[in-house]
Amino acid sequence: MSVIEEFNSHIMGTYGRYELVIDKGEGDFATDDGGKRYIDFGSGIGTNSLGYADKDWADAVCKQVRTLQHTSNYYYTKVQAEFAAKLAELTGTKKMFFCNSGAEANECAIKLARKYSFDKYGKDRHNIITLVNSFHGRTLATLSATGQDVFHNYFFPFVEGFIYAEANNISDLREKLDSTVCAVMIEYIQGEGGVIPLEKEYVDELYRVCGEMDVLVITDEVQTGVGRTGKFLAGQYYGHSPDIVTLAKGIAGGLPMGVCLAGEKCADTLTAGTHGSTFGGNPVACAGGLEVLKKAGDVGFLRDVAAKGVYIKQKLQKLDEVESVSGMGLMIGIKLRSKNAGEVVRAALDEGLLLLTAKDKVRLLPPLTITYEEIDKGLKILEKLLTEKGE
Ligand SMILES: *Cc1c(COP(=O)(O)O)cnc(C)c1O
Repeated sequence: MSVIEEFNSHIMGTYGRYELVIDKGEGDFATDDGGKRYIDFGSGIGTNSLGYADKDWADAVCKQVRTLQHTSNYYYTKVQAEFAAKLAELTGTKKMFFCNSGAEANECAIKLARKYSFDKYGKDRHNIITLVNSFHGRTLATLSATGQDVFHNYFFPFVEGFIYAEANNISDLREKLDSTVCAVMIEYIQGEGGVIPLEKEYVDELYRVCGEMDVLVITDEVQTGVGRTGKFLAGQYYGHSPDIVTLAKGIAGGLPMGVCLAGEKCADTLTAGTHGSTFGGNPVACAGGLEVLKKAGDVGFLRDVAAKGVYIKQKLQKLDEVESVSGMGLMIGIKLRSKNAGEVVRAALDEGLLLLTAKDKVRLLPPLTITYEEIDKGLKILEKLLTEKGE
């Protein structure tokens, strides 16, 4: 039996997978089971932030595995403390909770916001406003939070208490911000929704009205965080301090980790017994994460990420088939004029290039460490695919 046949006979078909078995990776390249190499412009959906098997990252991870792979959260570990201190410094937040995925980080944010409001104002101030076309995860609560009807199917009843407001429409937000609302949750750049950034004026006004009403602002930086956009947090482009930030994807360089970070206001809201996760703050994930922070927290490194993003965008904008390019840093959405994004991504496999889609766009989330040489090689393949005559 082939790997794919064996795989499909035992693993649920929850993903539309490509017929590709990835065997290993090195730097900016993935290798399939036939030895063919692919330039990776997707980095495992933005998780392998330092590329495949970064030397320092791999050394730190292996060393931690041999020392202490896990212990329960009834005890303290040094590596978790070090990682948290560095992350607090880079994000300007006060306290954090560790879990294992983006959805879990958002679950924590939702619970935290509701408890903050419950403690201060009592019951019935539990609603959370999220934005139309957002994506916040696949658990029941985060599916409910996700502002897209296509996700609100089959699994009834969904979790109550989410209200959807139109992105970049401040009057819609004002209308929905009543005395039942405890938080507003946003992505600065909607990732799965098609790499669509929020407007600066909208964000300014959102923080102003939320601040006036003591409504918490939650920024879901699961995709935009950890240097992806050329700042450590995408929110640093907008210049506000959210009450809660969530991170995951690239935070530990390809190991499962999610983090919910809280500012001063709600740093001590979640107390013993109110939340938990067996694997949260796993020492191996923390050791990997610490290496990611050492690199992605550096100002020069972040400047390079931003510069590479500008370089890619400029090259793409010269192509006739490209209608527009969106995003910041190495989070890029490409709107095509006549070609189908999904078909381009599929055709790229034959040419040795891994790409992603986001809605009707081609999406790029290359490793933050990608070299200009590999950027050029990948873009050359993409250019060829985009200039080929249609079927
Ligand atoms: C990917 C993503 C999530 C979900 O993360 P998981 O690790 O898949 O649970 C949540 N929010 C945003 C913005 C994401 O991009």
